[in-house]
Amino acid sequence: MAVVEDARGGGASRPVRLEEAVGVLTAARQVVLLAHVNPDADALGSALALGLALHRRGAEVQVSFGAPERPAESLRDLDVDGLVVTADEVVAAPELLVVLDTGSVDRLGPLAGRATTAGTTLVIDHHVSNEGFGTHYYVDPRAEATAVMVLHLLDAMGAPVDLPTARCLYAGLVTDTRNFRAASPDTHAMAARLLVAGVDAEAVTRPLLDTHPFSWLAMLSAVLATARLEAGEARGLGLVHALVEREHVHSGRQEEVESVIDVLRTTAEAEVAVVLKQVGERRWTASMRSKGGIDVAAAASALGGGGHRVASGFTLDGDAPAILERVRRALADAPLLG
Ligand code: 5GP
Ligand code: MN
Repeated sequence: MAVVEDARGGGASRPVRLEEAVGVLTAARQVVLLAHVNPDADALGSALALGLALHRRGAEVQVSFGAPERPAESLRDLDVDGLVVTADEVVAAPELLVVLDTGSVDRLGPLAGRATTAGTTLVIDHHVSNEGFGTHYYVDPRAEATAVMVLHLLDAMGAPVDLPTARCLYAGLVTDTRNFRAASPDTHAMAARLLVAGVDAEAVTRPLLDTHPFSWLAMLSAVLATARLEAGEARGLGLVHALVEREHVHSGRQEEVESVIDVLRTTAEAEVAVVLKQVGERRWTASMRSKGGIDVAAAASALGGGGHRVASGFTLDGDAPAILERVRRALADAPLLG
């Protein structure tokens, strides 16, 4: 990967291997670990697993993210040591900032500036769209989850994988691999190790993937009523899209809003599913999924976002019809995957 200028205006951003990342992590006495905004189980679970290990080695540790104020309800139990603080409480200029599961610095939201004020910023990520930022970046797009990379780091640090740590990592693995369907044999072996450490797979997974309040059914039915199938789009492979308008974004938890894409992407006639979520008066954040036939990271990147080849997203200002038109154009140019 190329060495690029970082946000410090002149400081270099440099790719590092596992051993050097371990050296950076173990040298620091004060560490802030950040996940991307609206952290999912991989982002927060990875930050907490690494945070727990560093805390137990004696470092002063904070775990946080730019928004919202608190973690999703289904993730709160992972923070057994009380490491999570609100964005306002994050120290202004930490000795070491570790940024996890975050493909670009803007995904830190209001905490993006910490990447410049920290003494050292280490990025640990698996997004194919990550071009490297911070002072050091350890990026492996082949890792199915950031949690996979964190487990390798913990092993190299000689940190024990106890039950609280194993739960955090399992949460990241199960969600980012879609219930292990996208997991390699090595990652299945990793999951087996976490089960041996005592993880109750059903107890960790059910609140993350299979639990919604009754009111979700009404919200889902209203949102699915906006679904449209455009069989000729996405290079003729089919596009299905739906809108989660503001009232529905605010009517439920993050878990309810984020689940819509998992229903939409089951559409047999569409290679690509897109959900637009109205997060401001004219601001929409999008989830894009493909079934492996087309590169939606490329399409999202063309719209200012990023992600993985089969799961990506972006945020744009405008009205929904205009944004959907840009999505169609971006998909028309997206590479087919072999
Ligand atoms: P999700 O749809 O689950 O929110 O996100 C899927 C993938 O797209 C994740 O890897 C996430 O990091 C990325 N992603 C989602 N929204 C955005 C966005 O607004 N900007 C960027 N750069 N990436 C996003
Ligand atoms: Mn991830």
